[in-house]
Amino acid sequence: MTDGEKSIHGIWNVPVAVRKPMEEALHIPVVMDNGIRCSALLEQMTSDEDNFIFIKYMQPGIGATFLKDGEIYRGESYFSMEIGHTIIDPEGDYCPLCRRRGCLESVISIDRMTKEITEQFSPEWCPELYGLCEGSAENISLELILKAADNGSIAINRLLKRNARYFAIAVINAHTLIDIHKIMIVGTLFSSVRFSEYFKTFIYEYQLTPIYDMIQILPLKNMELSPAALCVHSFLEHI
Ligand SMILES: [Zn+2]
Repeated sequence: MTDGEKSIHGIWNVPVAVRKPMEEALHIPVVMDNGIRCSALLEQMTSDEDNFIFIKYMQPGIGATFLKDGEIYRGESYFSMEIGHTIIDPEGDYCPLCRRRGCLESVISIDRMTKEITEQFSPEWCPELYGLCEGSAENISLELILKAADNGSIAINRLLKRNARYFAIAVINAHTLIDIHKIMIVGTLFSSVRFSEYFKTFIYEYQLTPIYDMIQILPLKNMELSPAALCVHSFLEHI
């Protein structure tokens, strides 16, 4: 994770200014940001909205940002709106990234769910998925997991409900803190009508005033365009 000047965690232990050598080598201005913010800028360009919370729930994790008057707030440490690393289960394991107990990402990420399903994969635990995968854990995919849920898997529906519940809590909390009345969400699990309905139900369950009307579930977009949105945003503002 880097802002182009310093690596935050994961790669280097000391600040490394990666943008400057790139600019010197390429002889063009270079801008860097994380995937969430780039995707939010792409959404701004294509939706014409300047004020919204943007939340992404897909591999590899869960991230968020928000735009106010067309500008992204990044925070003093570049960690603004890291809802994926807010604590959702104080009894959960420590997350190797944020070192907090039971952060949202460590509990409900797609990778975490797939790992749990793979570890328990058996005809007894989930006959629906076992059949779809022809008895081989190597065939497990998100598509088949969601299909097994639709085919009546009790175990997988439990996991989807848990994920929808914690995600709904995180979305409500994010809105409570930021107070912007439009929430755009993009996520692979929302391709499942079943998961989407679980999520909607938990939003209604946990917030009695109308908040679901502020939420817009977005279709999955071509993420390769996101860096282009960062370039347009960064360079047009200087014209
Ligand atoms: Zn974490």
